[in-house]
Amino acid sequence: MPASTPPTTLGTLGETALVEAIRRWLGPANPPAPAGIGDDCAAVDHRASRLLLTVDPVIRGRHFDDALPPGLVAEKLLKRNLSDIAAMGGRPLHAVIALTAPPELEVAWLARFYRALARCARRYGVLVVGGDCTRADGFLGAYLTLTGAPGKKLLTRTGARLGDVLFVTGRLGGSLLGRHARFAPRVAEGAWLASTKGVHAAIDLSDGLGKDLASIVPDGLCARIHLRALPVAADARRAAAKDGRPYIDHVLNDGEDFELLFAVARTHADALEQGWKLRFRTPLTRIGNFEKRLQGTNEAVCFDPPLPADVHARGYEHFR
Ligand SMILES: [Mg+2]
Repeated sequence: MPASTPPTTLGTLGETALVEAIRRWLGPANPPAPAGIGDDCAAVDHRASRLLLTVDPVIRGRHFDDALPPGLVAEKLLKRNLSDIAAMGGRPLHAVIALTAPPELEVAWLARFYRALARCARRYGVLVVGGDCTRADGFLGAYLTLTGAPGKKLLTRTGARLGDVLFVTGRLGGSLLGRHARFAPRVAEGAWLASTKGVHAAIDLSDGLGKDLASIVPDGLCARIHLRALPVAADARRAAAKDGRPYIDHVLNDGEDFELLFAVARTHADALEQGWKLRFRTPLTRIGNFEKRLQGTNEAVCFDPPLPADVHARGYEHFR
């Protein structure tokens, strides 16, 4: 190729030039070394005595395909991780990103990926402080590790009590029709919940309510879910019209909703709902409450009325 033609694939660009390019694409989302790209580690300040730490990938063929623009791939990558920080009531801080890509990947694809990542990072106050680039033939994926500072209180999956009310944000189901890459992680909402009285447990919905719900049900209790109260996304009905499955199946089992599910003391539920409406436009719905598990049953979740016979609450199983 003539020397004047800029390299168009990773293979012709080479690693050194790639790192320089990434630095340029990230712009102010990446601080100067040693706090950002340029040394063996990123050296960052943190005053929290506890640090939240999470990692999630996007893999081509699994979390995205070639129809999804690179900017949305990048946003999905960062926002998946932001949703985990939100679920624990934290404030996101620093990200490192491990990219694995084939040599024929177009540099233009990566430029759009990193620029969108930078825009999203700045929107949520995240600094992208480094990472790694590895060649792998026939594989494209990126793993992002994100840190966060806990809020006033750490929201965890354990701690729900008898009588607690269950709330969920947003609307559920049909994420594959587009929301899986375009959702808004509930970072501000999670931080507020961490400073609000009566919140006992929280989780973000990544594998579907039908599966994730069981993670916050304590031994001996069961979550009674009011089926007709569940907030149904318009996409859940569209998905149902397309494939003929009941829409409630999509609501429970599609996954990648990235909404928050949390348990609140019954005595605080009304005040929380009122406070929420003053602060957020994000929908908030009471979907059920915690009861004693019936003797002789091992059901952590029961639906009222019961689910139709052709629907099972199983969520998304990764290795099946
Ligand atoms: Mg999670």
